[in-house]
Amino acid sequence: MPDWRLPLSDLDFGPEEMAAVQRVVQSRWLSLGPEVRAFEEEFAALQKAHHAIAVANATAGLHLAFLALKLEPGDEIIQPALNFVATANMTIAARATPVFADIVDVCEPTIDPGHVANLLTPRTRAVVVMHYGGNVGRMAELTELCRERRVALVEDACHALGVPYRDPSQRAPHGVMAGSIGDVSAFSFFANKNVATGEGGMVVTNRDDLAERVRLLRSHGMSSLSWDRHQGHASSYDVLLHGYNYRLDEIHAAIGRAQLAKVMRNNERRRRLLGAYHQGLRGLPGWAMPFADRIADSAGHLMVAVAPTPEVRNKAVAGLRHARIQTSLHYPCIPDFKAFAAWPGETVKLSREFTARAISLPLYPAMTETQVGDVCQALAGAL
Ligand SMILES: *Cc1c(COP(=O)(O)O)cnc(C)c1O
Repeated sequence: MPDWRLPLSDLDFGPEEMAAVQRVVQSRWLSLGPEVRAFEEEFAALQKAHHAIAVANATAGLHLAFLALKLEPGDEIIQPALNFVATANMTIAARATPVFADIVDVCEPTIDPGHVANLLTPRTRAVVVMHYGGNVGRMAELTELCRERRVALVEDACHALGVPYRDPSQRAPHGVMAGSIGDVSAFSFFANKNVATGEGGMVVTNRDDLAERVRLLRSHGMSSLSWDRHQGHASSYDVLLHGYNYRLDEIHAAIGRAQLAKVMRNNERRRRLLGAYHQGLRGLPGWAMPFADRIADSAGHLMVAVAPTPEVRNKAVAGLRHARIQTSLHYPCIPDFKAFAAWPGETVKLSREFTARAISLPLYPAMTETQVGDVCQALAGAL
């Protein structure tokens, strides 16, 4: 691994996470138990949702969300072409068909409700929105569209933990959080996310029927957990559904609780750094900053800039690499992957343009504004 002077992301781990791990080790109970339950309750409270169900990772969570919706083979799930591949892979795992929609604009890279409306067919069963970089998608239009056509709205909320949703149309209930708006959503605690446990995820829903199915499917479809039996609350079990083992364990949950306690403060730090970046890159000719006027409403998961051309972007990537500053691309377009050749995205022109011109820059809570200045200077120097 190159010795990065500034990595793309970095953990905010300290004595709290160490103490959390130690607490579990000392308790001598490792699999789903009181830490997971407490993490779920604290997560549901922060996200203002009825149900939060901890899972092994967000990919498992998306799989369970699709299964809970009782999709049939051939059912279509409209989803962004510009996303991490997990949603598309889990669509296939649920034996459904992905239908790829474009983004609104290179400066608003979330799913375009107008394009979704054009892609709806009688086989459409769900629409997925991904809150890119922690910036909430067009939920008012999507909610209305999905309600009208009686299809489920699923949020890939992996970037958007702790984000109050400000509805420009004022139709959403006041104080609702991103990831608690649609029928069901998934959050990730992968190492680079705003809450990091290594592996880990959360399914969130306000629907009791979906919560019950997700809880069963998470643990083999079994009617009781070994923790319940250990506690004497049950002595046997039945298998009610054909499920999986997608459980989170106590160590990850305990780390998650320590991380969750810091997320609102850390999101604020991320927003401040985003502001410094936007200030520092303002003078670059032809560059654009997605969601530039909405930093206050963002989880600040990613710092992404859009170059005037793919050539300029590639030059910036090479120059920053030379300065030992790590960059990334969120994301290559899914229909352009070999494994998705059978689901062509002919109509995702803006997603492809974004993929060719975007660059993700270092962003993490402990980063300083001076370091942001360094990156901006190195980027300008590379051009
Ligand atoms: C991280 C991420 C995922 C996958 O999360 P895992 O917990 O690693 O399975 C899915 N979608 C998006 C948008 C992500 O950022």
